[in-house]
Amino acid sequence: MSANETPRAYDAVIVGGGHNGLVAAAYLARAGRSVLVLERLDHTGGAAVSTRPFAGVDARLSRYSYLVSLLPPKIVRDLGLDVRLRSRTISSYTPAQRAGKPTGLLVGGGEQRTREAFARLTGGDREYEAWQRFYGMTGRVAQRVFPTLTEPLPTREELRRRIDDEAAWRALFEEPVGVAIEETFADDLVRGIVLTDALIGTFADAHDPGLDQNRCFLYHVIGGGTGAWDVPVGGMGALTDALAAAARSAGARIATGHEVTRIDTDGHIAEVAYRTTDGEGVAAARHVLVNASPQELAALTGDPAPEPAEGAQLKVNMLLTRLPRLRDPDTDPREAFAGTFHIAEGYRQLATAHAQAAAGELPAAPPSEIYCHSLTDPTILGADLAERGYQTLTLFGLHAPARLFDRDNDGAREELLTSTLDQLDAHLAEPLADCLATDADGRPCIEAKTPLDLERDLRLPGGNIFHRALSWPYAEEGGGRWGVETRHVNVLLCGAGAVRGGGVSGVPGHNAAMAVLERP
Ligand SMILES: Cc1cc2nc3c(=O)[nH]c(=O)nc-3n(C[C@H](O)[C@H](O)[C@H](O)COP(=O)(O)OP(=O)(O)OC[C@H]3O[C@@H](n4cnc5c(N)ncnc54)[C@H](O)[C@@H]3O)c2cc1C
Repeated sequence: MSANETPRAYDAVIVGGGHNGLVAAAYLARAGRSVLVLERLDHTGGAAVSTRPFAGVDARLSRYSYLVSLLPPKIVRDLGLDVRLRSRTISSYTPAQRAGKPTGLLVGGGEQRTREAFARLTGGDREYEAWQRFYGMTGRVAQRVFPTLTEPLPTREELRRRIDDEAAWRALFEEPVGVAIEETFADDLVRGIVLTDALIGTFADAHDPGLDQNRCFLYHVIGGGTGAWDVPVGGMGALTDALAAAARSAGARIATGHEVTRIDTDGHIAEVAYRTTDGEGVAAARHVLVNASPQELAALTGDPAPEPAEGAQLKVNMLLTRLPRLRDPDTDPREAFAGTFHIAEGYRQLATAHAQAAAGELPAAPPSEIYCHSLTDPTILGADLAERGYQTLTLFGLHAPARLFDRDNDGAREELLTSTLDQLDAHLAEPLADCLATDADGRPCIEAKTPLDLERDLRLPGGNIFHRALSWPYAEEGGGRWGVETRHVNVLLCGAGAVRGGGVSGVPGHNAAMAVLERP
């Protein structure tokens, strides 16, 4: 699009071509609306992209987000998306030390196998039965809550009635999730595994009264009505590419390299100013849908800034020549890394790491989780690498709040990366460094991103992967019908910062499009 083009009024201008902006664009264009998507980067996808981060190496890694759970099949069907999600045979592996010997807990591979794994680690059936009970409860909640995400917001009472399980309601919606975890499980390691879902991208303790950890937990166990996290075949970029193709083929116009600088609206028509490398321009629109964060929205409209958001994770991408051997003699690395590999995520370890970070220090034993995409889906590797047995690893570190990087981002990144990999090495029979591939310039294939890196690269406020703390999936006082409304009647949020946003879900994109389409 030329920067000097005469303004014309689109039915909708979408600020940001992240996956949610593309979902909104596809729905609106399919309904016959004229749509323009303005994306500041030179590609679409936001935090849901694949890239070749290592010079001269043909490995397309999901650079930021990597697993899919929250994308409703309805969106895939409605938009005719050509995406394939593959389930993982192993759900998780957690290395441990018991009676002075290396061992671990492998969850997955069938019920009998999981029961035996629990018995080996914990010395009986109690923890496994508690696990079944607990996830039976979250599964029933998932089946009731997940379908509501693409409907107008229920009230709190409506959702409570729909869930129809007072004990579950109390455990997930009212009391800090640490209470239910401690009541249900006795083993520290098992408690830690359960708690991690409450801490992904969320800086909280199990008992924080603000319940950010509960909301994070909820979104991690309701996806698809089961809470399963699946592998997008071809990587996250394949999903985004399918969305961009759906939007384009329905007639939406997608302009990359277009950074929106201002939104002016009188409630009927809005003007959206943007700049490109060639100059500046303005697009007029009946509706503006903002896929960028609430912070960015406030800056664009001149409204007061919302509460600051803060991310709390270290994301590391790696390419290996081979998977490292484990100290646990009974577990095959090909199984251990196929699921979520938990490191330093015992319940007490998580609490200590949180306390240290809250006191302004990098955690001494940083908790993290690792996962190997290429075991489930080797298509992201070039044929040569796949044949030589190369594997990708993605690591998501917890309790690394943005504030710890303010003074010296490069130094803190390096320090945290080293101590995080030390925690992993403690469970390996050979150092991870020996398994790292090298790029065309002879450098090891590893990159790490702090919250400040994500803020700079993706405009995630404070590096928050969900744009802001996750919301309850019901209407709060003063909220709108779809959870996408803003103080300007014709400006809607269509990204992770909306109510029921966060994660690769397309849900806020869908809901913003529905809000537009049901207006006269
Ligand atoms: C490291 C990491 C790991 C994650 N892992 C997972 C995971 O495994 N599974 C999962 O479900 N979720 C995960 N998430 C969260 C998930 O990726 C995000 O919540 C989701 O991608 C948000 O999508 P979005 O489209 O709403 O926003 P974004 O992806 O943030 O896209 C917003 C877009 O708006 C653009 N933009 C911003 N400002 C402007 C402007 N002024 N003008 C024009 N364009 C603008 C941005 O460039 C961006 O493309 C992860 C996130 C991160 C960062």
